[in-house]
Amino acid sequence: MTENEGFLWERRPQSLCKKCGKCCRIVTTPKSYEELQKLASEGDKGALDFLELFEPYETVEDALLVDREQVEHIGYDENTTFYKCRFLQKNNLCSRYDTRKDLCRHCPSTAFVIMPPGCGFTEWIENEKAKIVQKVRALKKEKTSYQQELLKDCSEHKRLMLNKLIASIDNYINNYEKYGSHEW
Ligand code: SF4
Ligand code: SF4
Repeated sequence: MTENEGFLWERRPQSLCKKCGKCCRIVTTPKSYEELQKLASEGDKGALDFLELFEPYETVEDALLVDREQVEHIGYDENTTFYKCRFLQKNNLCSRYDTRKDLCRHCPSTAFVIMPPGCGFTEWIENEKAKIVQKVRALKKEKTSYQQELLKDCSEHKRLMLNKLIASIDNYINNYEKYGSHEW
């Protein structure tokens, strides 16, 4: 039951990629550049990988000049830094495609990632997202029925089983908490 969104990239139809390079040319992270540098200095693999690939635009204005639509699609404030990949070539292809890092290999890694306008994965991701939302809603109903069962007089064995099922449902829903699953 506990489908894990981590498997999304494994079933992603790669043929949908238009090789436009937008997702390599304008990128940002929730963490600031300074935070990433600090994490990298502490040996954080995610930060090290990211900074090995991406160099920051000096200003948001510089990024806007490269791809205004994508920058505005992502959104920004005074703390936002945008980045471009050092390995993206002028023809929009990756110069290290065969040895690209997992963060590239797995993109789009979740159904909730913000892909650029016009990205070939847009519709597919929306469908994946809708499936997850539907599943969470169905699981919430399932959980309610288990909770009602628990209010009845039932054996210890059944009680254990129901609690296990509820914990499993909570686990699935919590996987998507940062995307708002508790409100769906
Ligand atoms: S933005 Fe989408 S279509 Fe363009 S290169 Fe990236 S994954 Fe492929
Ligand atoms: S290494 Fe290649 S796939 Fe990864 S961000 Fe850079 S250009 Fe894109």
